[in-house]
Amino acid sequence: MQIIGCHLSVAKGFLAMGEEAVRLGANTFQFFTRNPRGSKAKAWDQEDIDAYQALAEAKGFGVILAHAPYTLNLCSKEEKTRQFARQTMADDLQRLEMLPGNYYNFHPGSHVGQGVQTGIHLIAQGLREVLPAGPHTTVLLETMAGKGTEVGRNFEEIAAILDLVGEDRVGVCLDTCHVWDGGYDIRDHLEEVLALFDRIIGLNRLKAIHLNDSKNLCHSQKDRHEKIGQGQIGAAGLLGVLCHPSLCQLPFYLETPNDLDGYAQEIRFLRQHGPECLAERGND
Ligand code: FE
Ligand code: FE
Ligand code: ZN
Repeated sequence: MQIIGCHLSVAKGFLAMGEEAVRLGANTFQFFTRNPRGSKAKAWDQEDIDAYQALAEAKGFGVILAHAPYTLNLCSKEEKTRQFARQTMADDLQRLEMLPGNYYNFHPGSHVGQGVQTGIHLIAQGLREVLPAGPHTTVLLETMAGKGTEVGRNFEEIAAILDLVGEDRVGVCLDTCHVWDGGYDIRDHLEEVLALFDRIIGLNRLKAIHLNDSKNLCHSQKDRHEKIGQGQIGAAGLLGVLCHPSLCQLPFYLETPNDLDGYAQEIRFLRQHGPECLAERGND
């Protein structure tokens, strides 16, 4: 079965997220490692994690995606802010050792006028420093829409960071809303976009997809998510991503503006139109 889930609240712990995911028809989920404002994290409970892992195994869950607070900035102008980001990420990675083998996704950062090259170097430097804290977690750079001075707004910037870090344990999470807003037309030119991704970054580095529609036009650099099929990418465009032979094995995470019922509906829709159903229909 395809690995599909959505963003869930971590407030009630891991078993609760796992059970919620099952109710929604999901077999994975994403969660924030702590309050997005980056405050002190609640300790995780090993018993709760063990119970989650038993459920995940019984239900055939795929990898889960821990999302760093989006307020962290590894390439801030202020050393204090950079250090806070490094400390928070190291602490998250250390806690993720309680559930080894999963993914930790973060927004590369904003260079705030220092220039993209400085941003890239600071991000790579920060990553090299924090990676040893969680050796069993794959760290993912998220592709960004290019709002303000965001770094990671094109494949070249992501590739430059990966090259400088030089570690297999760092990969990429492609956010469909962000790349679309960043100017990659995955609706009408998915093949070309994936060929570019492969040439510049390497498809082997692509580990996860944030599946979101976008409220805005391609190249708008806005980053406003929309429900599946209600935005500018549209259902057909997003199903193209879901069903693409180079992508369909990856885990997909919804970050659409939805309540839990809305997520359940979207997951049902995606499962009904996913590659397995296409293949079954093709065999009839
Ligand atoms: Fe994100
Ligand atoms: Fe995202
Ligand atoms: Zn976004």
